[in-house]
Amino acid sequence: MNNIILDLEATCWKGRSMQKQNEIIEIGAVKINDKGEILDEFCEFIKPKLNPKLSDFCIELTTITQEEIDTADTYDTVIERFKNWIDLNESYVLCSWGFYDKKQFQKDDALYNLDSNWLEHHISLKHQYAAIKNLKKPIGMGGALKMEKLTLDGTHHRGIDDARNIAKIFKTNILKWQVKK
Ligand code: AMP
Ligand code: MG
Repeated sequence: MNNIILDLEATCWKGRSMQKQNEIIEIGAVKINDKGEILDEFCEFIKPKLNPKLSDFCIELTTITQEEIDTADTYDTVIERFKNWIDLNESYVLCSWGFYDKKQFQKDDALYNLDSNWLEHHISLKHQYAAIKNLKKPIGMGGALKMEKLTLDGTHHRGIDDARNIAKIFKTNILKWQVKK
């Protein structure tokens, strides 16, 4: 089975404004087999449809530049490449830190009238981690890295770096995740 450890970045505004719809601007992912070996990585930027101009807040948070977004393809094109990279014909599970990433994919699929069936095989490592470690409530990726005595490498809030860091937590606990086979 391919374990797809993924992390999304999206358009955002200071104070998590509810007026505007967030759209994915980066997909970062690491493909890991059941032995914990990293097979491949995926990292692509996406040009948003509704708000193609990034807010200063978003640029500061993610370090993604306007130019990287301007030269990127739109969601419908990139998601096709991402699904090909996952290989939906092979057995796979999508793993993210919380349920945000799955919900964001569903929103962008809806914006482009795409079906979201491919998202059914998904688990939240954040919630499973809390259960494995007997924590009272789920904790952030940074907290989990500390608990595992792992370093937060790269730039936090960059999809590919977040995915690589989550992948380290995944590998450290490889036998403990509950995945439907
Ligand atoms: P993360 O995976 O934690 O980097 O966050 C994913 C996305 O959530 C970011 O690209 C933003 O769109 C949004 N986000 C994260 N933190 C904040 C924040 N403090 N304020 C507004 N939006 C945020
Ligand atoms: Mg992130």
